[in-house]
Amino acid sequence: MSSWESSKLNRAGLSGIALIALVLILPYLAGARDLEFEKSIIEKFLPYQKWEKEYRAYFQRHYHDDSLELAPKAIVMHYTASATMTSAYNTFRNGAPYDDGDVGVVFGHLSSHFIIDNDGKIYQILPLSRKCRGAYGVNHVAISIEMAALNEASLLKNRKLINSSHELVRYLAEKYNIPGDKVYGHYQVAKGRKVVPEYTDYGDRRSPDCYPASFGRSDPGERYMTGLWEYLKKNTHNGKR
Ligand SMILES: [Zn+2]
Repeated sequence: MSSWESSKLNRAGLSGIALIALVLILPYLAGARDLEFEKSIIEKFLPYQKWEKEYRAYFQRHYHDDSLELAPKAIVMHYTASATMTSAYNTFRNGAPYDDGDVGVVFGHLSSHFIIDNDGKIYQILPLSRKCRGAYGVNHVAISIEMAALNEASLLKNRKLINSSHELVRYLAEKYNIPGDKVYGHYQVAKGRKVVPEYTDYGDRRSPDCYPASFGRSDPGERYMTGLWEYLKKNTHNGKR
């Protein structure tokens, strides 16, 4: 082998090594972003263990499955209709009377997996392995995320809150391989099976395929969702809708 050939080989070998190093380091960089992000999430769990009997009965009635274990296949976005997260969190924790379909008004505990406060801080309030009760119709498959905002107009003005929500959904969509067309606004879930094929409700015979008209939802609004879908398209591997 001439010295020219050996130096060519060295160059090829070196660029090969550089390429391998890059391939090895890329997932690490993506993983580092997620690790950093996970550290920013504040844990403030609801006393969900106390609700096991109530939740099993609810999931049996509405989904014909009393398992409380969640394998996330969709994400539902909401706003709290309050300026800060406090009132929403307290209502979840303390429980309230609500309309439970065929059994009428009962006392119980609604919930979500996350609440993002109006300063952009993200609170995780249920484990992701546990079904929540944030968007009936899809609670058997969905992660629910609440954002502290009075309405869509105030949500759209709050850049910190929007940025935190985008980063949280990006992280969850990658973690559970959830495509952009399975990231829903609550207002879409309210329209039922014709918009959201996962919609299931065995426990409300007056309106089995969608929310009753009096339960209509507008949160978090189409403009917010359009911005989120755009973000996911650019920032997740399967964000296309
Ligand atoms: Zn909602």
